Amino acid sequence: MSISKEIEVKMVDLQVQYQYLKKEIDSAIQEVLESTAFINGPQVERFSKQLANYLEADSVITCANGTDALQIALMSLGLEKGSGVLVPAFTYPAAVEVILLLDLEPILVDVDPDTFNMDVKLLEKATTPSTKAIIPVHLFGQACDMESIMAFAERHQLKVIEDNAQSIGANYLFSDGRVRRLGTIGHIGCTSFFPSKNLGCFGDGGAIICNDNQLAKSLKMIANHGQSQKYVHEVVGCNSRLDTIQAAVLEIKLKMLDQFNEQRIRIADRYDEAFHQISGLQIPKRSKNSSHVFHQYTLKVNEGKRDALKKHLIGHKIDAMIYYPRAIHHQTAYQSPKADIHLPVAEKLAEEVISLPIYPEMSNENQSRIIKEIKHFFK
Ligand SMILES: *Cc1c(COP(=O)(O)O)cnc(C)c1O
Repeated sequence: MSISKEIEVKMVDLQVQYQYLKKEIDSAIQEVLESTAFINGPQVERFSKQLANYLEADSVITCANGTDALQIALMSLGLEKGSGVLVPAFTYPAAVEVILLLDLEPILVDVDPDTFNMDVKLLEKATTPSTKAIIPVHLFGQACDMESIMAFAERHQLKVIEDNAQSIGANYLFSDGRVRRLGTIGHIGCTSFFPSKNLGCFGDGGAIICNDNQLAKSLKMIANHGQSQKYVHEVVGCNSRLDTIQAAVLEIKLKMLDQFNEQRIRIADRYDEAFHQISGLQIPKRSKNSSHVFHQYTLKVNEGKRDALKKHLIGHKIDAMIYYPRAIHHQTAYQSPKADIHLPVAEKLAEEVISLPIYPEMSNENQSRIIKEIKHFFK
């Protein structure tokens, strides 16, 4: 018998939200079925306008998934082979993967032990003359230190691609009081609509965000076989589309995004309240320049007790996940030829972090059950 069959409190339960929106979603999908405009139906263009509106960005180019968004963004920069791209060492590896696929060189930067995001103090030392871009990943729902990153990028003439797959809807607060949505601060922003993301569709989907018309044209062309118009191929591109059914679902869910993020924040507040006094546990630190939309609620567990805590929860039919169990440089696929790099914070986090169930519709009862078991474990 598999463990998942026994789990009663899941990391994410997409059923509740579907049931809640079922009438509207079923009819929107039905409309696509009746129209048979499965590719490039009017919903796709409509949704990309709505998302641009929501983000206060000039352009949104939809595509097939978040990894494609990153790849298309990097392709649009036209970097020379071997150019360096700064990326965090503790993250989901999609950015690193596409950097390598495009024959560029990932330069892994260690992360801040409290926010889990790229440590900007380490950027200077990691940068060489061949470094051309930086991909800050806004991990778990809150922003990297974008003000420092943008200033750093300007000094070194780097292009900035934000990986905002986990933090859509979060805001960044600049020191002069300006507030911007994540994904609209760098030269290009990328996001994913994977079902469990804060804005998820019913399959795969992604988008690229930018505030430069020329660049937007180029991104659109790359995503569409490099075509400037039908059968006129200007560059080698790829084929990456958001299909109409997904756009129809996303039109409905986008209207709910702020509310869903609020609900996540309320659940995180309650976890914080329950755990902040447990010695041996560190609740997620909230950066003062960013809202936190809690794609994940991630604790640090001291004294090597993380795996025992996870086992305890699973034993009580509560799911918990390790995001991420290995630093990037400890994954076979991404081993650096320079070998032997040591990124102590990323390595330590891989041993300390645990993410608890969180999703907008999580019931009070389920959350109470998780809290009770965690308190019990630390008694
Ligand atoms: C989910 C995710 C991606 C990839 O998105 P897909 O749509 O699954 O390709 C990229 N980066 C981060 C940080 C993610 O969490």
